[in-house]
Amino acid sequence: MWRCSFYPRPEQTLEEAQSDEAVEQQLQSVVPRQERYRVLHKRSYRIHQRVADSYRRGRMLLAGDAAHLNSPSGGMGMNGGLHDAFNLTEKLIRVLGGADDRLLDLYVRQRRPIAIEHVIAQADRNRRRMRETDPERRRSELRDLQRTAGDPELARRYLLNSAMITGLRQAAAVS
Ligand SMILES: Cc1cc2nc3c(=O)[nH]c(=O)nc-3n(C[C@H](O)[C@H](O)[C@H](O)COP(=O)(O)OP(=O)(O)OC[C@H]3O[C@@H](n4cnc5c(N)ncnc54)[C@H](O)[C@@H]3O)c2cc1C
Repeated sequence: MWRCSFYPRPEQTLEEAQSDEAVEQQLQSVVPRQERYRVLHKRSYRIHQRVADSYRRGRMLLAGDAAHLNSPSGGMGMNGGLHDAFNLTEKLIRVLGGADDRLLDLYVRQRRPIAIEHVIAQADRNRRRMRETDPERRRSELRDLQRTAGDPELARRYLLNSAMITGLRQAAAVS
């Protein structure tokens, strides 16, 4: 079973793009085959790229998609939200135990820059790479990825970034 993402063609409405025939054509254009594809589920989603101006107003706090929205390319949205939740929960417990509630501002200082500098930026890079149609630029992107994969130090840095560990370490360093 595969999950496929397609952009509607410029001349198509969303409804047309989701018709059985249009979906079949898109799938056949990727992997042509004799029989029709069996599509179990389809739905549309809009790609956003934004971060709330603040994650805190008094007793109200934002985390996850309520705080930041990005392209799903790279699988960082939910993971970023989980990191928010872990960070915030630890501070909420301390505030409920009597700590100064300015501790909650530390959550904002630690997590908001990560959404901007890591999650949104990386998701946007991934999305642009996937949408590139110029064959030469696609080859160049692929060569860059191969160079990264072939160099242990570069590969390690790339994995720390894409696994969002760099972001966690950066947040932990903010006081
Ligand atoms: C196609 C696609 C693929 C994705 N793939 C990945 C992936 O591979 N990896 C990854 O990390 N992320 C991925 N994401 C992103 C991920 O789905 C979201 O980041 C994540 O679901 C956000 O979780 P959340 O709890 O912050 O928000 P939501 O999942 O939006 O949860 C908010 C909840 O609040 C409820 N709600 C809203 N208003 C009210 C109200 N007034 N009262 C009570 N309840 C309310 C909603 O019904 C909803 O259940 C993908 C997203 C898309 C669209």
